[in-house]
Parts: sequence; structure tokens; C-alpha cells
Amino acid sequence: MSSPTIHTAFTTPPATPRLGVYNFSAGPSHMPIEVIDQIREELLDLGETGIGLIEHSHRGPAYMDASAEAEAVIRRLAGVGDEHAVIFMPGGATVNFAFLALNFLSEGGTGVYLDTSVWAQKAIEEAKPVGKVHVGFNGRGADEFSCPDPTKAGADIDAPSDAAYLFYCANNTGEGTWFTEPPRSDLPLIGDLTSDIFSRPWPFADHAMTIAAGQKNLGAAGCSVIVAKREFIERGSKSIGPILRFADHEHAQSILNTPPTFAVRVIGLMAEWTEAQGGPQAIAERNRLKSSMIWKIVDQSGGFYRSRASHPARSGLNVTFQTASSDLDARFLTEAKAAGLENLAGLAGVGGMRASMYNAFPVRGAEILAAFMTDFATRNG
Ligand code: PMP
Repeated sequence: MSSPTIHTAFTTPPATPRLGVYNFSAGPSHMPIEVIDQIREELLDLGETGIGLIEHSHRGPAYMDASAEAEAVIRRLAGVGDEHAVIFMPGGATVNFAFLALNFLSEGGTGVYLDTSVWAQKAIEEAKPVGKVHVGFNGRGADEFSCPDPTKAGADIDAPSDAAYLFYCANNTGEGTWFTEPPRSDLPLIGDLTSDIFSRPWPFADHAMTIAAGQKNLGAAGCSVIVAKREFIERGSKSIGPILRFADHEHAQSILNTPPTFAVRVIGLMAEWTEAQGGPQAIAERNRLKSSMIWKIVDQSGGFYRSRASHPARSGLNVTFQTASSDLDARFLTEAKAAGLENLAGLAGVGGMRASMYNAFPVRGAEILAAFMTDFATRNG
């Protein structure tokens, strides 16, 4: 049986909308057409084996090669060596937030959480029934969303020095804020990179663990990529079942039970595509171009559009904004949809609008949205 061949001819994303639609969905979200074409081929036949991607045994060479290749490219993009494990864990980010707490808090430990978003709150909710939670920063004010100020070098974070870890959510998908650098702390650092993985250079090696669900920059949902120090995950509780332990998944090379084989292959292809684009450094430039185009419209609208995302922490991926009333927001969304600009509604509980423009989202889509926003403000201002 021959090995699956990774498609290496991935090029720049096309500027034209697919089927007349620009999809601003926060996740699952727009994927590169080259990757979709490759998946379409592999669904029928993975690596000329005569067997389709979702029909291969997870213990056969074709899938094991695909999994190993995905791990190798993620290692290169994350810039980590052998002291780190790269694991494909079952489930999305929230499931892995629960695994995190079970591994490191279930024997009396305290987890420090920086409460900057709905997703950080989800992580807190998963930890509370398991162990002690200490909220070290509150970034969700009624009128403004913020992140710790990097110029304060950690002084605005309150963290007991004997805690098991410090958790932060690097990009706050719903609020439209992000950390411009990881929080400063001597505690083992846990980063939720679900919505910003490989969108910009990030020091993975400085973390005890990063968690990133598929569904955005990594493609299909159903699997999370964990990059973790081997020594850290070995310290996980032995009083929980093997399926809950990161270390056991790592020992089994992410084939402890039947893994989400489709999602793992899509993650591998998305990582390969990311590398072919020039990696996080090159992609960050393109992402900056897209988000700054929309933030600029918000800033220059004379107050027609406003955002609760605090200026220094504005996300380079999810631009959040609103008009003066929820009625006008609703009209914006209806008209945008009619113009082929889909999925711009803000997260429930945050409201307003949100333009999510991850790695694969075309620059042209941001230009079209910017023009639409300007026109809408002129007509309704
Ligand atoms: N963290 C972040 C930053 C997210 O954006 C999301 C989903 N949008 C999650 C966690 C939750 O992921 P899941 O639905 O896979 O549990």
C-alpha cells in the first residue's frame, strides 16, 4: 500500500467569492479551495490506495502516515523540538478545557484563568467542578473588552505562585480582542489558540501547553491540536482514566482509540497549506491588511460604528463593531447578506457585528465589506 501524498502545490487564495458568497463565519469558517479540492479527491482515494480517506483503518499505514505527516508539519510551524509533544486529541476546545482541569487540578491544584472572553469563561466553567479556580484578570467590562497590558509585564495579573498553571485565551473570538504577546508569568502557561493558531508568529515553546480546536485555521471540527511539554503532561493525574490523559494519547501517538481521522487529515492539509503560504510570518501580514481595513472604517465613521474592543488589544482576526441601535444592526445584517456578505452577526451575548477573517479568508472579501460599510453608513448616518 502506498502512502498518501501531501498536496504541495497550494497557492495564494483566489480573490473571487466562492459561489458569490464571502463567508465571515467565526467557525467553522472559510477554507481554501485548494484544500477542499484535495479533500474531495481523497474522499474517493487516499494516496492512490483505492480506499477513501474516511474508509481507511486508523491502524493502517495510509492513515498512520497522514497522521505522522500532520504532526511533522505542525512541529515545523510551531517551531518545537523533541521536548514537546504534538497530540491530536478528540473533541473541540471545550472538551480539552475539561481534560486540562482533570489532568492538573483534580488532586487539589489551583488553575489561574485570565477572564478575557466567553471562551475563557467556558474554560473556567469546565475547571470549577474539578478543582480550584483563581481569576487573575478580568477583561470583560460592561463597555469595554480588554487583555492584560504587555507594558505592565504581568503586574496587572493576580496569580498565586503555587498554582498548577495559568490559562489564557490568545484571541477572543467573540469580543474581538487578542493578546499581542503571551501573558508574563512564572507559572506553566496554557494558551487557547483555537482562533489564532498559525495566524501570526507565536512562541509555542514557551508554553506548557497550547490547545487549538480545528474549525478555523486548522479546518474541520472534531479534533484539537495540543502542543505540550512532555515533562508537563507526564505530571497529569494518574487517578483519571487513560482516555482523559494527554500523556496516554501522546504515548499512543494519537491513536489511543479511533481518532477523528477525517479531521486529522484536514488539519494536516491546512497546516501544509499554511506552510505553502509562507507560514505564520507571511500570513500575519495578509491578516493585518484585512483587519486594519475594517478597523479603519470603524474609526473613521465619525461614531456611526463603534466597538467595545479596547484599542491596544484589538484582534487582527475578528473585528467586532455595532451601530447606534440593535434595529440598525439588524438592517445591516440583512442588507449585508443580500450583498453576499454572510455570517456577520456578533456572538450571542456580545451582539452587534463581527467580521471573522482567518488565514484563508481573501483580502478581496475585506475590501468588499469595507465598501459595504462605508455605503451603509452614508445611507443611514
Ligand atoms: N476557544 C476559542 C478561542 C474559540 O473561538 C472557540 C470556538 N469558537 C472555542 C474555544 C470553543 O471551541 P469548541 O466549540 O471546539 O469547544
